[in-house]
This record gives sequence, C-alpha cells and structure tokens, in this order.
Amino acid sequence: MSVFDHPEFDQHESVHYVNDPATGLRAIICIHSTALGPAAGGCRYWQYANDEAALTDVLRLSRGMTYKNAIAELQFGGGKSVILADDAAPKSPELLRAFGRAVESLGGSYITAEDVGCSVDDMRTVNLETSYVSGLPKSGNSAGGDPSPMTALGVFLGIQTAVSARLGSDTLQDVSVAVQGVGKVGIHLCRLLNDAGARLTVADVNRDHLRQARDKFPVTEVAPNEILFSDVDVLAPCALGGILTAQTIPEIRATVIAGAANNQLSTEEDGARLAEREILYAPDYVINAGGIVNVAHEYSGDSSEENVRADIGHIPDRLDAIFAEAKATGDPTNKIADELARRIVADGANASEDRISHG
Ligand code: NAD
Repeated sequence: MSVFDHPEFDQHESVHYVNDPATGLRAIICIHSTALGPAAGGCRYWQYANDEAALTDVLRLSRGMTYKNAIAELQFGGGKSVILADDAAPKSPELLRAFGRAVESLGGSYITAEDVGCSVDDMRTVNLETSYVSGLPKSGNSAGGDPSPMTALGVFLGIQTAVSARLGSDTLQDVSVAVQGVGKVGIHLCRLLNDAGARLTVADVNRDHLRQARDKFPVTEVAPNEILFSDVDVLAPCALGGILTAQTIPEIRATVIAGAANNQLSTEEDGARLAEREILYAPDYVINAGGIVNVAHEYSGDSSEENVRADIGHIPDRLDAIFAEAKATGDPTNKIADELARRIVADGANASEDRISHG
C-alpha cells in the first residue's frame, strides 16, 4: 500500500524512512504538522510485528502530537519517530547517533525526545549529533530530563477532574483505580494516587515493574488480561495504545477512563461506544500532555519547574470544558477534543499565511 493511501496518513507533511546499514538503524520519522511550530514528539524504540505495524503506530502517534501540542497551547507542531528494534542490531550508541544524524538532517522541522523504550541517556547520545532534541538530563532544579513524573502529575489532576465530573466526588479518598502498566508514568501515578487515598489495582507484564509497585504501595495485583475489566471506579491505561475496542469496551466496569497511554482508542468509533455506555473518557492527548509541556519548557529555555507545574495545572480546565460540551451535546469526548485541536491548528495555519502575505 502507498503511504499516501494509508488509513492513518491524514495529510502528514512528510514521512522519512531512515536506513543506516553500518549500525542497523531502521527508523521512521513522521512530521504531521508544522502549522504551529516545529514538529515535537518523542522517539519510540519498539519491536514491531512488521514494518506496516510500525508505520501505522508512528502515523497515529504523530497526528496525536499535533493535537496534543495544539490543545496544550504549545508553539509546536506534531511529529513522532519510531526506531524498529531488531535483535540483529541491538540499541547501541552508534545506532542512536545515526538516529541523531537523521534528525539533524531535517534541519529543525522535527524535535525528538524520549518515548517508550528510550531513556534520558539515549537522548544524551542523540544530542551528540543534533541539537534538535529535548528530554536531556536536568541541571539544578530546572525542568528537563525524564518527563514521566510531569506526565503522571497531569494524569493525576485529570483523574481528579474526571472523578468529580462523573462520580461527583471532590476527593480520591477510597476511589478505586486500576493502573494498567506501572512503568515510568504508571509508578509515579501510583504514588500520587496512593498519597490521595485511592485504592490501587495494578497489572504489568514486566515482573520487576510489578515488584517495584508492590514494594512501594498497598496494591491489589491482577493478571494483565484482567486489568481492563477490574471492578473499579477508574481505569488508568498507562501501557500501550489500542486497548479500547469493540470487544473490550462492553466488558469494562469502570465509569471513568483516564490514563497516560497514547492512542487508547482503537478507532474513533470507540469513543462513541464508551459514551453510549456512559463511561467518561478523558481524551488521552489532553490528559497526558504534562510530559510534552515539560519537554517544551526545557527546549525553549524557560525551564523553571514552577512554570511547568503551573502550565500542567491547566489540564483540568481543558478537560472540564470538554466534559461540559460532551454533557451539553451528547457528543463523545474524543470527537470534541479532535475538533478543538483541528480548529486550533487551522487558525495557526491561517495566522502564519497572513503573516507571510503581509510581509
Ligand atoms: P514504560 O515503557 O516505562 O511503561 C509501560 C509499562 O507498561 C511497562 O512497565 C510495561 O511492561 C507495561 N506493559 C506493556 N504492555 C502491558 C500489558 N499488556 N499489560 C500490562 N502492562 C503492560 O512507558 P511510559 O513512559 O510509562 O509510558 C506509558 C504510556 O504513556 C505509553 O503509551 C506512552 O506513549 C504514554 N506517554 C508517556 C509519556 C511519558 O512522559 N513517559 C508522556 C505521554 C504519554
């Protein structure tokens, strides 16, 4: 299939295939939109079933970044990259440097950072070849480094907002939350939820991550294939995307879904399926913007943690507005968020055309 005909293509500005035989690097860098600024979005290192699965993932993630950055009011467009993990060419400094050179060759139209499978140290290596990278180690009390704690903070605030809207409770005391995936974001989220008095159910396919959660907090453990259907108030997906489907949604017992994972809905129609079941869904790219807010502050040089936290404090207002519109119109929350994001991007594109035509 031609990439232009791909169902997830959605008018991407460009798609770059990277092949570096010397290091074994194979990567795809997608730039969905630069209407609001350079395309910012992390790099995922992942073993895909095939190239088609990698392309589908990166196209969806890249468009999601356009929407996320627009709604978070950042001066960035949307893009994303994936490195296709391959046992025959394991992640190495040379491979990451080759990726850095590919990012550099795009001249700043794409800015990378860490995503699933990449670390702060990896970005430090990428930074040897390009300055178009964020998520680098922190210095002093400045913003920067691993964005996961800030993502978790935004998700936590978003859960409070969704619980208030759907359950009418202004506290998380004794509210039950199922966290799917206790990795970098999930573990920080568990801490915030535990401190707020929530009751935690967790699952992870990684035994070490699960043990960390168990050692730190009182948690109920369930099997990975059961967590989505836990008898809880809130489901917080913090693993991978594509989990909310025509098959899983009828079995979900939580009345709020609010978590960090990107692309939680398998298709747009799944948002309507959730709304029909009166399950309040916090659109993923609205609630999980804390990390990119952190990355954007770091990249633009305004790296006070206080300012980052203040910006993340706007996530509840944005969710409240989306929930209120959903209540008033009956439209699914994902549709409302997508339309809002597209309006912001279109306004940004028109504004920059005006600036060009007025010299
Ligand atoms: P991570 O890789 O550190 O954690 C993901 C965890 O999910 C891992 O512990 C993994 O073992 C677990 N997992 C994978 N499949 C699972 C399954 N089927 N059932 C249960 N657990 C499973 O990644 P992360 O950085 O914590 O990110 C989590 C999600 O949030 C991803 O979708 C990511 O794209 C998204 N996200 C992360 C950030 C960030 O700042 N890190 C920002 C925005 C969005």
